[in-house]
Amino acid sequence: MKSHQLKLYNTLSRQKEEFQAINPPFVGLYVCGPTVYGDAHLGHGRPAITFDTVNRYLTHLGYRVRYVRNITDVGHLTGDADEGEDKIAKKAKLEQLEPMEVAQQYTDTYHRDMAALNTWKPSIEPRATGHIPEQIALVEAILKEGLAYEVNGSVYFDTLKYNEKTPYGKLSGRVIDELMSGSRDLDGQGEKRNAVDFALWKNASVEHLMKWDSPWGVGFPGWHLECTAMSSKYLGTQFDIHGGGMDLMFPHHECEIAQGNACNHKDPARYWMHNNMITINGQKMGKSLGNFITLQELFTGNHKLLAQAYSPMTIRYFILTAHYRSTLDFSNDALQAAQKGYKKIINGLRIAKSLLFDEADALVDSEQVSQIESSITAAYRAMDDDFNTAQAIGHLFNLLKKINSIFTGQLSAATLGKETFDKLIQTYITFVEEILGLMEEKSDVQNGMIDLLLKLYSEAKTARDYAKVDEIRAGLKSMGFVVKDMKDKIDWAYEE
Ligand code: ZN
Repeated sequence: MKSHQLKLYNTLSRQKEEFQAINPPFVGLYVCGPTVYGDAHLGHGRPAITFDTVNRYLTHLGYRVRYVRNITDVGHLTGDADEGEDKIAKKAKLEQLEPMEVAQQYTDTYHRDMAALNTWKPSIEPRATGHIPEQIALVEAILKEGLAYEVNGSVYFDTLKYNEKTPYGKLSGRVIDELMSGSRDLDGQGEKRNAVDFALWKNASVEHLMKWDSPWGVGFPGWHLECTAMSSKYLGTQFDIHGGGMDLMFPHHECEIAQGNACNHKDPARYWMHNNMITINGQKMGKSLGNFITLQELFTGNHKLLAQAYSPMTIRYFILTAHYRSTLDFSNDALQAAQKGYKKIINGLRIAKSLLFDEADALVDSEQVSQIESSITAAYRAMDDDFNTAQAIGHLFNLLKKINSIFTGQLSAATLGKETFDKLIQTYITFVEEILGLMEEKSDVQNGMIDLLLKLYSEAKTARDYAKVDEIRAGLKSMGFVVKDMKDKIDWAYEE
């Protein structure tokens, strides 16, 4: 493992802590995945990219990450206090589909969008409906501990009794007395001993679509239970990192902590990481506000708030330009700036891959060498400081300046010495591709066509057919490529 001291902000302790894996080099990483009843939107994009970067960087440092991200295909109700309809069943009724058809359809589109964003697949992607026996076993264990009770075929977690020994609310910083007085009187609440109790298992009505036999009759699991069942099954009763969006901190993650402590007498995860929310033109995203944008709408530009389409890599780059614990505001101006930045980075990647070390005799320019060394150190230090991709990208641009200077001949590669030159090129490529997960978006077919057009351009130039030269140049420009007439060759770059 590389000798980096990684620090991460633990939501549980509210401070940055040095990361110590429970069983190095293995790292267990659990992230709450989507409830699959609609197209993935920006609210899915940010945690996916945040924890993909965590996974990538830990892997880069030499850890062996087991990344578990679940698919919620049952139990997530429309209300937040164990009331309302199952979100997937509701959609299935509306569209006259089987609930599992809805879950399959949106699992597929989620995978398509995550692949477009170049996120690594999780090591395990368990589904809630595939873990009903495990969830029933958990309910039984919590009942046995005396921390749950059954009413009319439903089982509720006894939060007040649990709180006598283990404080409830330590993740979100909520106090139980305030929760008691602030809760609303809703459906099902009549069965609960206390308003802060939550459902582990719910009795299903006759018309309810997704239900299973249990020791308490026919019913379905409470939403929070699946993550405890699946994380403990695949990562153990205590694992390294639990991640998710800040909106899941309460009640979902708080309940996971309570469930884990109730049956295993320990916190399920050592470190809790939460990405901050996104806003759109300064407003919270919401269906009722008309600013709800799916990832596909961003990729195609097909939304009234969007001035143009933004490619998946532009979105990925944009999300990485903010630290994951900061809020991030989407606007056309910000996305257009991100598109420019992404193209600069990728033009640099093409150049970095093409540069060769020049073996000419030259004195080593120690000033240049030390500038490069310090940018490399700073880029790693930023990632080691709670995965600060925003700062790391800043240092990457300093490396890019050097690469561009070598390319244009302002800086001689020979004056860096072979070792520094290689380190500059390697670090840049590693950061862009491996750590930040940015890639060129062109296909092989496009590459072939650009090569062909440049050949025709070169022939037209030799034949002094300037009308043809201008036509090809303009045509490529309209597709987003700039022709570059170099001293000894013709090249191209993305228009920034
Ligand atoms: Zn979860």
